[in-house]
Amino acid sequence: MVLEVIVDISTAEIDRPFDYEGDDVPLGSRVSVEFSRRRTIGFVIGKKEKSDFPGLKKATYLDTPVTPEQLKLMDAMRERYNLRHIDVLRLFIPAKLREERDPEFKRIYLTAAKGLDPVAVETALKRAPKQKEALDFLSSSEGEYLSVLTERFGAGVVNGLRERGFVEESAVHETRVPLKTLSGAAKAVTLTEDQQHAVDAVTEGKGVFLLHGVTGSGKTEVYMNVIERMLERGKTAVMLVPEIALTPQILGLFRARFGDLVALMHSGLNAGERYDEWKRLKDGRARIAVGPRSAVFAPLENIGVIIIDEEHDSSYVSESNPRYDTKEVAKMRAAECGAALLLGSATPDMESYLKATEGVYTLLSLKKRIAAYQLPEMEIVDMVQEFRYGNRSMFSAALKDAIDAALSRGEQVILFLNRRGFSSFLMCKSCGWVAKCEDCDVSLTYHKSENVLKCHCCGKRYHMLSKCPECGGEDIKQGRTGTEKVAEELKNLFPNVRVLRMDNDTTSRKDSYFRILREFALGGADILVGTQMIAKGHDFPNVTLVGILEADSALYFSDYRSSERTFQLITQVAGRAGRADKKGRVILQTYSPRHYVFRFGKSYDYEGFWRKEINTRMVTKFPPFTKVVRVLVAAEEEQDAVECTRAIYRALKERERETDGFVYLGAARSPVTRMKGLTRYQVLMRLRPELFERLMPEIYRLTAEHKPQKGSCFAEIDPQSLI
Ligand code: ADP
Ligand code: ZN
Ligand code: ZN
Repeated sequence: MVLEVIVDISTAEIDRPFDYEGDDVPLGSRVSVEFSRRRTIGFVIGKKEKSDFPGLKKATYLDTPVTPEQLKLMDAMRERYNLRHIDVLRLFIPAKLREERDPEFKRIYLTAAKGLDPVAVETALKRAPKQKEALDFLSSSEGEYLSVLTERFGAGVVNGLRERGFVEESAVHETRVPLKTLSGAAKAVTLTEDQQHAVDAVTEGKGVFLLHGVTGSGKTEVYMNVIERMLERGKTAVMLVPEIALTPQILGLFRARFGDLVALMHSGLNAGERYDEWKRLKDGRARIAVGPRSAVFAPLENIGVIIIDEEHDSSYVSESNPRYDTKEVAKMRAAECGAALLLGSATPDMESYLKATEGVYTLLSLKKRIAAYQLPEMEIVDMVQEFRYGNRSMFSAALKDAIDAALSRGEQVILFLNRRGFSSFLMCKSCGWVAKCEDCDVSLTYHKSENVLKCHCCGKRYHMLSKCPECGGEDIKQGRTGTEKVAEELKNLFPNVRVLRMDNDTTSRKDSYFRILREFALGGADILVGTQMIAKGHDFPNVTLVGILEADSALYFSDYRSSERTFQLITQVAGRAGRADKKGRVILQTYSPRHYVFRFGKSYDYEGFWRKEINTRMVTKFPPFTKVVRVLVAAEEEQDAVECTRAIYRALKERERETDGFVYLGAARSPVTRMKGLTRYQVLMRLRPELFERLMPEIYRLTAEHKPQKGSCFAEIDPQSLI
């Protein structure tokens, strides 16, 4: 039999099936093949009797990790997003399966040997502190995989311990459950009428459902009940959450309710854990996949429902290769399996709500928060006024008083900074010079704890400066405030306050999100200061005050979604206050208190906001009434970038003359002109939906035809950021 195989190499030239001789194995099988004189794995996507090529090499069957349903999804995604076969296939399988080795093979598990004499150990390892450290680690834990231990301490150290007989090895092990300690208490609740209606609608009906309800209105309870019914019918479920930081919470609830039927799929796990969880789903031992966007590719069959919580969240859009929109992929997958798609949010995406009002989606609303839970009161503080009264601090008088009051009652506070820059950039006070990255056209961020400047775009580090390189001035100041500065100022105002920071700087380690959140939840600090990361779903019963320090900084980004993003943020942040029996309070500081975002935000009036905003979008012809498409050309040589951009632009200009589907077409340098050493140009367009569908294949073709010699060229649909 001739097998058509996609090999595990991602380049444009190899993006097609190659013929191999092999047994009649199912489509989606993994095989071992030789490709340009090296061994690699491949996936069977087609079979035929004869090949046009003589003397085919042999493909050896390994296993069948991909289902026919997933292969169909692959094709649909390839067409929609112009992706390579292998890039999509890789989404469906854990990294372990990209090696030829049996993934179960050599998964030796080590534990500290029992009954070791501490004195003997001490003496023996006197000169081997690393071995001592590794052994201590094993003794204080339940053991570890050999591979993980080796990664961490080095092969020499681990082998040393094995030779001395200080460790015990076992080849078989129980499947490890990630974040095992996490499990909430299962609560039996009687669903409210609205909740019951939602559960019935989703489980009896068909298509896409939009569950709209403020934080604390009981959406999660609806999700769990829908899943329960699906399981009863012998079906499986996918539960997507926006970010890794949010997974523990939902995981805890789900474990309490569904036990081992839940499997976690996310990138924070190590390769072994990921494989184990994947395998449990594949074998049917687990039937609910929980995780961020990659969980949409879960190896489940017979899916009854795919749920996307916080469906408006931008983390559902993958912005690097392979680029895809999880919501769209979920829609394709649900349609293919006959599953329901349930989108949930307190602040649905403009487009989702539009579809719901048009009846394309079924709208389900949870109108109120669950009885005991009240929405916190929101106060808007005009910072211009504060400044006029001589308050130069970043805290308004109202916020300062409120913090003071909360602390004196022994309650907790969350302070939120609406910005992705986590600390501050460096600026010369005399001449206005700003420190920038050599390779990227972005300002550097100062990290006080390490006393270095970092580029958040490419990661490059620079020494901190004492003088301005332009004018020699010594008055170099941090240009903006960040979480570090907030924490500092808090310490000045409230000397004994215990402050925790949550931002990219403090969460570089994979478990630090969880550590910080847990510490705060356990009362280890009085105030949590953070960026976007703390805006979502975390549940802290003792938090009664939330301060939003710069509510409007997102408003000034030149992005048509600024208002929408700001509304989403303040609604979400507000949801953090007063979840338990205590009444919550939100203080929102802004320089534009009369902006309609705040007017609607204050009264939690999503519909009012949506109506105003959708009207603006309609008049200005922005999404969802058009599609924004950007072709980004990045090249080592500026001239190269210019020529490719020009060629693409001209071809599109030609089309613009023939149709009236273009609302906008323009070519220019990208706002961030240089990134990672490449010069960037872009063609930006807004298209009416009908033209968009027709034109996309042509745009993809243009990007392939006009690739710079050294660099890249690709198209993005509704990109989340336009830098
Ligand atoms: P959301 O997901 O919309 O933020 P949750 O589902 O987390 O809301 O519900 C908020 C709180 O209300 C949770 O503690 C949950 O256990 C509780 N809750 C939800 N539904 C009910 C109900 N019908 N009766 C009593 N408590 C409920
Ligand atoms: Zn200067
Ligand atoms: Zn850089």
